Amino acid sequence: MPEATTATGLTAGQRRERLVEVYHEAKDCQKCPLAATRTQVVFGNGNADAELMFIGEGPGAEEDRQGLPFVGRAGQLLDELLHGIGLTRDDVFVANVIKCRPPGNRDPQPAEIEACHPYLMSQVELIEPRVIATLGNFATKLITGSPAGITRVRGTPQVHEIAGRTVFVMPLLHPAAALRTPSLVATLRDDFASLAALLDQEPPRGATPAAMASEPEPDQLGLFG
Ligand code: SF4
Repeated sequence: MPEATTATGLTAGQRRERLVEVYHEAKDCQKCPLAATRTQVVFGNGNADAELMFIGEGPGAEEDRQGLPFVGRAGQLLDELLHGIGLTRDDVFVANVIKCRPPGNRDPQPAEIEACHPYLMSQVELIEPRVIATLGNFATKLITGSPAGITRVRGTPQVHEIAGRTVFVMPLLHPAAALRTPSLVATLRDDFASLAALLDQEPPRGATPAAMASEPEPDQLGLFG
């Protein structure tokens, strides 16, 4: 029986192949000045058919060293929070707004974000997540297109059109912020419970029904990073 196609008109296998191609394009990217100071591009990793995609800000020192997103203590907390709602990293895809580490962990510059944006949009388009969880102020403002700060909007789902798809966006505190202020860990846990409930909901209006019909396949993106 032919493999079902989804919103992109591609089969799940074709979407994964295309994502691998985008990874190969990104890994030698020289499109912004961060290419000169990074150790390696941190493309993101996880399940290419994930219903839930996390978007953080950018790689830190450890991520830059390992080539993987959300490693170190913030990554451990993310793993723990996922475990709390019955998920692992193999169930989700984790990426950042910007794929190369800004020196000294400074904020990415607008030109850098603009140069890197097509990679993120390709990831959303090809993974076809139903829910995007933004981690922290920076990713939240960029993805929602709103100046509203994370402390105001966290934990309440929004609906946005991203990369041509209608998706739920769930703004969350950044795990690193919760590590700095331990009382925020409980807030993050509560918001992860809301995230789990959101995953049980029907896709937001405007989403392509076929996107819901795609069969998740085993993670083969361990190579990303
Ligand atoms: S940050 Fe993005 S645009 Fe800039 S060099 Fe890295 S991958 Fe390319």
